[in-house]
Amino acid sequence: MNCIFCGIVSGEVKSQIVYENDDVVAFKDLNPQAPTHLLIIPKKHISRLDEAQDGDAELLGKVLLAARDLAKKFDLKDFRLVTNNGKGAGQTVDHLHFHLMAGRRFLWPAG
Ligand code: 5GP
Ligand code: ZN
Repeated sequence: MNCIFCGIVSGEVKSQIVYENDDVVAFKDLNPQAPTHLLIIPKKHISRLDEAQDGDAELLGKVLLAARDLAKKFDLKDFRLVTNNGKGAGQTVDHLHFHLMAGRRFLWPAG
């Protein structure tokens, strides 16, 4: 499997990691769309949210708690947490990831 985010998890692909535990890693997006733009991923390869299994429930909870910890670490009061599921929704990397974005105003509904 040729997955860029699995490469980041293994260290083969360079990234600016800002958070890591046994199950989750977060790093700076290469092409930031906000003053703070982090990507939070499970270390386990799951292609996208609709490929997650019931058995991934604890892991997915850990991803959300990582977002909480990152918001605290970077003192983010207002932030947006987004996952794009499928090409039509804007997904370009097939490894589940959540965009944690902050530092500017966000439109709603999202574009
Ligand atoms: P998606 O479009 O799949 O929701 O988000 C993929 C994100 O991954 C994009 O925001 C893109 O800038 C980021 N990205 C793609 N390749 C790399 C990479 O090699 N390193 C990092 N840090 N970010 C990447
Ligand atoms: Zn992967």
